[in-house]
Amino acid sequence: MNFDLRSLRQQFPFFSAHPDWIYLDNAATLHKPQAVLDAMNTFYSQHNSNVHRSAHGLSQQATAAFEAARNTVAQFLNARFSHEIIWTSGTTAGFNQLVFGLMGPVLQSGDRVLISSMEHHANIVPWHIHALPFGVQLDVVPLTADHRFDLAAYSELLKLKPKVVSISHVSNALGYIQPIADIVRLAKEAGAIVVLDGAQGIVWEKIDVQALDVDFYLFSGHKLYGPTGIGVLYGKTQYLELLRPLLGGGEMIKTVSFSSSSWNDLPYRLEAGTPNMAGAIGLAAAILWLQQQDLTAFQQHKSALVQRFYAGCQQISALELLSGPTTNAGIVALNLKNEHPADLATLLDQQNIAVRAGTHCTMPLFQALNVKGSVRFSFACYNSFDEIDRTLTALATAVELLAE
Ligand code: PMP
Repeated sequence: MNFDLRSLRQQFPFFSAHPDWIYLDNAATLHKPQAVLDAMNTFYSQHNSNVHRSAHGLSQQATAAFEAARNTVAQFLNARFSHEIIWTSGTTAGFNQLVFGLMGPVLQSGDRVLISSMEHHANIVPWHIHALPFGVQLDVVPLTADHRFDLAAYSELLKLKPKVVSISHVSNALGYIQPIADIVRLAKEAGAIVVLDGAQGIVWEKIDVQALDVDFYLFSGHKLYGPTGIGVLYGKTQYLELLRPLLGGGEMIKTVSFSSSSWNDLPYRLEAGTPNMAGAIGLAAAILWLQQQDLTAFQQHKSALVQRFYAGCQQISALELLSGPTTNAGIVALNLKNEHPADLATLLDQQNIAVRAGTHCTMPLFQALNVKGSVRFSFACYNSFDEIDRTLTALATAVELLAE
């Protein structure tokens, strides 16, 4: 391991506030390093003014900081232009804008869209709201027998010529890292626009949107050590230009009369209203913080945590493991045979271990798996082997209690 875990943890004030807790709900949201909190505090205490609106110097300073944050994200993703970074309030908001925006210019009645069995509701329900009522059909890539993305079935479904393929980079329920290079390449060969849901993937590995040749990539700030209420919809200029804005109002227009309006250039056209300025600056601070860390070491550490936890779980025979340790970005899903996942999570909570139980906004996945739900243990760079061992002990105790 190429980093000092103790000094890493010291950068996260949350842990000194809760020294008696083991936080394994990292796929839901990550904790924030002090650098992120400081950047947001500095913005509010020293630079707070509305961006892009006023002629005064303070507004210009705020605008400069806000647009610098956009540049930081653009460089981080290796986007060609900073206007390809659209601020959203999160992945969910990004998907709603994207799906709404594609309807008409790209998608019409009779067209097909391809998603996978592992999608989060954020990549399912917006299609139901904005696309299916207008005659678009949703096809779904099935799971393999070992609950992986089925590339062979995917290739077959691409023969139906979907106009859009929209797949998660990393499954938030099972932790699997999807074969995104193959997914994008095959979709392009089939002539589809490719969208990746990066909500869980962005924190796992470095993304180069140009090298990957992905058309849209979405993520949330709070799953990248940044604040809540800010997210990114990356899109290639040629496709962003096509999107109809979901939200109308200030900032996104060029001219307005009582009878019509004309729209602003990118990125503002898709950013109606006062943006989350402090959020954007906080997210940029998170990225700058991350760029000073050893991402490969983080990956190795998370993989080692998964391996250790997984091996420990295998010793507890009453547990059913839903996801395996290989090509896993740090999420283990399991169940205690014949028990409701919430019961196990409650017993762990009583021992100050934070995990999540349920269907994790992936109800159709659990229907496909034919299980009610799972207890999800999700690991981050700041978790320790000691925490894994204590969790395994607590898990064994909880399992014994429930068996009584
Ligand atoms: N997609 C995936 C894979 C996710 O894990 C999440 C968050 N759980 C989302 C989309 C939605 O993100 P948000 O709630 O931040 O909008």
